Amino acid sequence: MVMRIPLIAGNWKMNGSVQSSHQLLSELCAKVDSYDDRQMVLCPPYPYLQLAANAIKEKPVMLGGQNLALESGSGAFTGEVSGEMLRDFGCKYVIVGHSERRMLYGETDRLVAKKFIVAQEQGLKPILCVGETLEDRESDRTSDVVKRQVKEVMVSAGLAAFSEAVIAYEPVWAIGTGQTALPDQVQKVHSIIRALIAEEDATIADNLRILYGGSLKSNNAREIFDMDDIDGGLVGGASLDVNEFLSIFQAA
Ligand code: PEP
Repeated sequence: MVMRIPLIAGNWKMNGSVQSSHQLLSELCAKVDSYDDRQMVLCPPYPYLQLAANAIKEKPVMLGGQNLALESGSGAFTGEVSGEMLRDFGCKYVIVGHSERRMLYGETDRLVAKKFIVAQEQGLKPILCVGETLEDRESDRTSDVVKRQVKEVMVSAGLAAFSEAVIAYEPVWAIGTGQTALPDQVQKVHSIIRALIAEEDATIADNLRILYGGSLKSNNAREIFDMDDIDGGLVGGASLDVNEFLSIFQAA
């Protein structure tokens, strides 16, 4: 049986200040223990990456970006941050296709797939976010939507690319709403995603980590992580609270 190491990723989104980030990082780094059986990634806003990189030195914590530019190299792309730059700060991961980017910044399946490819070309592991809206769920389209989002990347990047990536299933209706999906609902979608990959390659599917994201808290994490196909979480709001985030990490 394959052992997938659970991953807990904290997405700080556009929150914090130099002072609050410094405080959060010092508290977290003082309290976090070393574990071989789980991993932690922090995705702070770009301006605080250096602060985070300094704080996590010697700590069992990795860094990730929340987004990356489509372009590689350098050039006249005002406001963009490249994958190389993220690597330069020591990032190992990058979130691509978060629903906030899809919905607020018009990122399409095609564009998300391109960013996934660019991330890997630059040595970053993409955390590919997929998930349905409430309307999709209510009209029984959850499976179709999630499969469409994953397939676009399978077709563009090739299946082998999933051996160096993570998927985060994040139902849009559960993000930042306090409404967590039920463990059975999450398990069902995770197994659909794993089965989709397994149709092409069972080994890649078995090894693929599929995280859940959407109002994860210390009081609901364990029952979600107990499900077979759930390999950790992508945590938004609760990653800004050290004790909450560490409790979720410990539950993994
Ligand atoms: C997220 O933004 O990826 C997320 C899961 O947010 P929250 O935990 O706040 O719902």
